[in-house]
Amino acid sequence: MENQNNGWLQVLARLSFQLYEKISHFSISQTNFHHLSQMKLITLPFPLSCSSNPTLLRFKFKPQSSLNPTLDFPKSQSAQTPTKSPVIIIGGGLAGLAAATHLNSQNTPFLLLEASDAVGGRVRTDVVEGFLLDRGFQIFITAYSEAQNLLDYNALNLRKFYSGARIYYDGRFHTVSDPLRDFWASVRSLANPIGSIPDKLLIGLTRFRVLTKSDEEILSSGEEVSTMELLRKIGFSDSVIGRFFQPFFGGIFFDKELGTTSRLFDFIFKCLALGDNTLPSNGIGAIPQQLAAKLPSGSLVFNSRVVSIDFDDDAESLSSPSVRLESGEVLKSELGLIVAVEQPEANKLLAGKVNEPGRIKPDRSTVCLYFTADRANIPVSDPVLFLNGSGKGIVNNMFFATNVAPSYGPADKALVSVSLVGYFEGVDDDDLTTQVVRELSDWFGSSMVRSWRHLRTYRIKFAQPNQCPPLNSTRDPRVGFGVYVCGDHWTTATFDGALVSGRRAAEALLRDNALSRVD
Ligand SMILES: Cc1cc2nc3c(=O)[nH]c(=O)nc-3n(C[C@H](O)[C@H](O)[C@H](O)COP(=O)(O)OP(=O)(O)OC[C@H]3O[C@@H](n4cnc5c(N)ncnc54)[C@H](O)[C@@H]3O)c2cc1C
Repeated sequence: MENQNNGWLQVLARLSFQLYEKISHFSISQTNFHHLSQMKLITLPFPLSCSSNPTLLRFKFKPQSSLNPTLDFPKSQSAQTPTKSPVIIIGGGLAGLAAATHLNSQNTPFLLLEASDAVGGRVRTDVVEGFLLDRGFQIFITAYSEAQNLLDYNALNLRKFYSGARIYYDGRFHTVSDPLRDFWASVRSLANPIGSIPDKLLIGLTRFRVLTKSDEEILSSGEEVSTMELLRKIGFSDSVIGRFFQPFFGGIFFDKELGTTSRLFDFIFKCLALGDNTLPSNGIGAIPQQLAAKLPSGSLVFNSRVVSIDFDDDAESLSSPSVRLESGEVLKSELGLIVAVEQPEANKLLAGKVNEPGRIKPDRSTVCLYFTADRANIPVSDPVLFLNGSGKGIVNNMFFATNVAPSYGPADKALVSVSLVGYFEGVDDDDLTTQVVRELSDWFGSSMVRSWRHLRTYRIKFAQPNQCPPLNSTRDPRVGFGVYVCGDHWTTATFDGALVSGRRAAEALLRDNALSRVD
């Protein structure tokens, strides 16, 4: 009987939510509107019409079934119409954009406030002298399941890396390859010094193990240890750990010690087995741009930094959360607030709510240096990733971006991308460049490398949250009344983790709003 009642309650909740969506009107205070309309890059997402209430401007959101609705507004509205101000999303990285996409698909209006001048957060691309410079070396793995639901891969025109790597060890290069995609190369690699034959068999077994589990099973596995402990437990030799796993996964996690949770290792290992490593032809920044292009025009507001959030912890509270912008303006949201900023910023804005005291772990940092060369003046033409398996030097990995996606540079030029793990505080950019050139001269010959021209260096202090065990990737997004958190620090430090977290925050907000309407 109780179950039956619950069932009815849910149906009623859903029906009233749908009904509410059909009739609901939203309001925003006149001062806010005045401020927003004055800001340089700001336009409100919805045309507004004045109501009889002098302090409120009312606007109506017309429900649409597609992800990209056009908005329709009444000529005049009654002051009795129920009003709610739109959801506020803080942050336009992948998590904020995924939350926005989900709200939009449910016809729920939102305003996304982004501190910088564009979407993408950590996933952005700059155009410099005709080259596409991703802000740090990033690869898009096609097997990310949330990304598969949200993105149009064809439109991204994804260009594949070779599925394997070339490892610099003992003064020479050794190829490791995926036996399922390049069988003969993997047979040839059996005898190379990167790992023993048992190591190569163990890689196959690890692949089988992760492929038999769902993502949820992997990310909540009870046997969580560090990646290094897992590799040792599996039985991998020190040579394959040092020459392959440390540069490869250390470059993915920005953690050469491999203290990162084994759950993330298994998740990435599975994605690598199922998908391709790729780059979008227009740069990694094309991914957030594609998501943003499907949102209602004007719903994204740039150059708007939120400096504080005011909200109530009390679940019974009736006061709506509000945000204060750098300009001093205050925006209130009756539908709720989604905080989609990176971990250090979330810690500031939501002090005490997102991190248990004493659990703050050091950030993961990286430096990425770009060089340009004549296309004839690089050693290979294949889209392969080079890893430093020597255990010496500061270069962790590098590749020729124009070999993967020729659109990353002008027709006759090559783009060289070199990544370091860590922040190298206290070492200036010129010294880093000199050291990188010296090391790569050992790899490829000094006359070639010295002909390359340094283009730009990106130092990324907070590249990823530290994901050493324990990892809790299923935290409740709700941290206070009407306030929800998302971002890669709430799930996994991956594109997919950020996208999943954004959807979860939007779902929790919509669920709470539906329930409060039933009440
Ligand atoms: C160099 C590098 C390489 C990576 N490589 C990979 C990879 O190969 N594969 C992979 O899956 N993942 C990779 N990642 C991780 C991945 O990029 C992140 O996990 C993901 O992009 C995080 O998205 P997010 O939305 O959680 O955070 P962010 O992208 O950091 O977005 C947060 C947004 O909030 C905005 N913001 C912050 N404070 C405020 C404020 N007060 N008011 C308003 N707006 C604010 C910021 O400007 C930003 O736009 C890499 C990351 C880096 C840095």
